[in-house]
Amino acid sequence: MARTNIDGRTRLTGIIGDPVEHSLSPLIHNTAFQVLNLNWCYIPLLVRSENLTKALSGLVSLNFAGVNVTMPHKKEVITLLDEVGSYAQIVGAVNTIRVEGEKLVGFNTDGRGFITSLESENNYNPQGKNVVIIGAGGAARAVAISLSLSEIKHLTIVNRTLGRAEELRQLIKNHFPSEHVEAKDLKQDLMSDFETANLIVNATSVGMEPNINEIPIPEDLINESHFVYDLIYQPRQTLLLKKAREKGAVVSNGLGMLLYQAAASFEIWTGKEAPITVMKAVLEEYI
Ligand code: NAP
Repeated sequence: MARTNIDGRTRLTGIIGDPVEHSLSPLIHNTAFQVLNLNWCYIPLLVRSENLTKALSGLVSLNFAGVNVTMPHKKEVITLLDEVGSYAQIVGAVNTIRVEGEKLVGFNTDGRGFITSLESENNYNPQGKNVVIIGAGGAARAVAISLSLSEIKHLTIVNRTLGRAEELRQLIKNHFPSEHVEAKDLKQDLMSDFETANLIVNATSVGMEPNINEIPIPEDLINESHFVYDLIYQPRQTLLLKKAREKGAVVSNGLGMLLYQAAASFEIWTGKEAPITVMKAVLEEYI
């Protein structure tokens, strides 16, 4: 793993969450700091929920430049910050904090990571497209809002728990009143939604450990006209992506989203362009 040489001038960043031991962010960011010859360092910080408030004030006291925030603190942290960017406010979750003097400022880079991966890596413009998102958790919220900002034509949110899909539908309607958005239960007949869909996004955890042999929707719903984006990046090819590829659909896993949300955090802290090529290479090598 890449390491920076730490001395009295080293700027500190890291990730607060519980657990943090499987995070790939230290690898990505420390590699980026090293490549750009920045005297910065990124460390995992295990923070239990009951210690979140103390941990946040510690960031100012210990002169951190900023941190990422992961589960289970992404929502709770919002109320403890001095300022929150408008996109993070709508999503209702923060994954990046910048320390500005005595102030903590929150951002959410997940949506930007997703859209950059879609547009730059996959050359896919979501504007005017019919989209189906499977899932209605934190990642689905970030993706749904960033797609709404990209002026998609129609959004169907499909979730195991209809109430959560309905909540997300309402959130989108509140912020984008003219958008066509529907909420559906996974058990409903979804054929017509998929027939008219251009982009399908899996934002559930179905397909990753321990559910690697499961698919979030019946494979019959996928056809060759679809672009299927699975937010999961481990395994690199989920069963959904395998079946979609066999049907002739264009597919992408979530590695690009992970990479570009990290790049956006890096830029928020350092003010420098992230070395994407190296960050991507180290991620791919690891995974
Ligand atoms: P979350 O808030 O816990 O939401 C989980 C979602 O998955 C919910 O919609 C849940 O449905 C659904 N789900 C879970 N188990 C299911 C099952 N057995 N059958 C059907 N639906 C099921 O999690 P999240 O933070 O949104 O993360 C979702 C996925 O996105 C994870 O795989 C995560 O690794 C991935 N992700 C990737 C990136 C990236 O950078 N690529 C970033 C963030 C997240 P219910 O509402 O019914 O419980």
